[in-house]
Amino acid sequence: MTKTHSLLMLPGDGIGPEVMAQVRRVADWLTTNRGIQFAIDEDLVGGSAIDAHGKPLHDETLDKAKAADAILLGAVGGPKWAGSEYHLRPEAGLLALRKELVMFANLRPALCFEPLVEASSLKPDLVSGLDILIVRELVGGVYFGEPRGIETLPSGERRGINTQVYTTSEIHRIAHVAFDLAGKRRGKVTSSEKHNVMESGLLWKEEVDVVAQQYPNIELEHMLADNCGMQLVRAPKQFDVILTDNLFGDLLSDVAAMLTGSLGMLPSASLGAKDENGKAHAMYEPVHGSAPDIAGENKANPIATILSFAMALRYSLEQEAEARLIEEAVNNVLAAGLRTGDIMQPGMTPVNTDGMGDAILREMETLSAA
Ligand code: NAD
Repeated sequence: MTKTHSLLMLPGDGIGPEVMAQVRRVADWLTTNRGIQFAIDEDLVGGSAIDAHGKPLHDETLDKAKAADAILLGAVGGPKWAGSEYHLRPEAGLLALRKELVMFANLRPALCFEPLVEASSLKPDLVSGLDILIVRELVGGVYFGEPRGIETLPSGERRGINTQVYTTSEIHRIAHVAFDLAGKRRGKVTSSEKHNVMESGLLWKEEVDVVAQQYPNIELEHMLADNCGMQLVRAPKQFDVILTDNLFGDLLSDVAAMLTGSLGMLPSASLGAKDENGKAHAMYEPVHGSAPDIAGENKANPIATILSFAMALRYSLEQEAEARLIEEAVNNVLAAGLRTGDIMQPGMTPVNTDGMGDAILREMETLSAA
């Protein structure tokens, strides 16, 4: 019997519902044309959930998220809710989801589509064919370490404290994710920290070496995080999978993002620990926010969200062929010169959100028939 994949769609706020509508069309197309069965549920998160339920993540929504094979999120936030207390802001819904599902691994691909090489801040030959995956630890390190705070010393001077802290188990679980993914890619992991000046970095390096022993076919290199930042803008194609902590990953993934051009093109995934049934929670979302400046105008680029769905097909639903089909369709549509406003270049054909969705579906049809 064909497996039915359960998807929870959380469109969120601003442009979230507009871009998610295009993902639903792609999913429907896969059902009709490829026989992939989805059980799709849709719910509120962020500002829309605050308006309906008084909080950014309803308990029922969390239960649905726990049960789903994959969660697809649009974006949350907007000026309407910006002044509220932290726990009543849309972003609190997103953080609660990540925390409750223990999503400790953040995957950010930096994939340069050939038709967009000119949009990169680097020279075309440096980014042409670029395909990097950054695996960032997401729930530990200096953003969560204790002690933290701001204190006033007896002298009256103030002191701000954050603590960079990692344990062996935290390092091992994120390292396994990186090595496993490298096995599905080009077989190389670059682990990045600052062991020259930080004990937590030295532990990271030593423990990654321990995990590496279980992956004799994967090449491992260690690179100091400052050098890694430099190499990303000097010769980015040397990398396959970059494994790094929460703080350095925050910086390195944003640097890598700009190698590929626009925010509207960037997908991401957050993977969680396996539960007692061997099921790993996973949430897929575009890197961009809710873009209130263009919300409701049918102007948003849906590609980042559609590519996030492709990641879900690859990493959670074991539908690699369909993931590739979507990515190839996106590439061909861009090659044909279609552009939403955010990636517009001289001489190209402008399309709106629906128009980009139409074009991608048409291209999937063509590729599928070939
Ligand atoms: P943003 O990513 O929403 O927008 C930045 C700029 O990029 C805007 O000019 C926007 O129009 C443009 N843009 C973003 N996505 C686009 C797309 N798909 N197509 C075309 N143009 C696009 O960031 P921001 O303006 O700093 O934040 C707006 C709101 O989104 C805030 O409330 C913020 O907290 C929230 N936010 C949410 C997430 C998330 O849900 N994961 C991430 C970042 C920001």
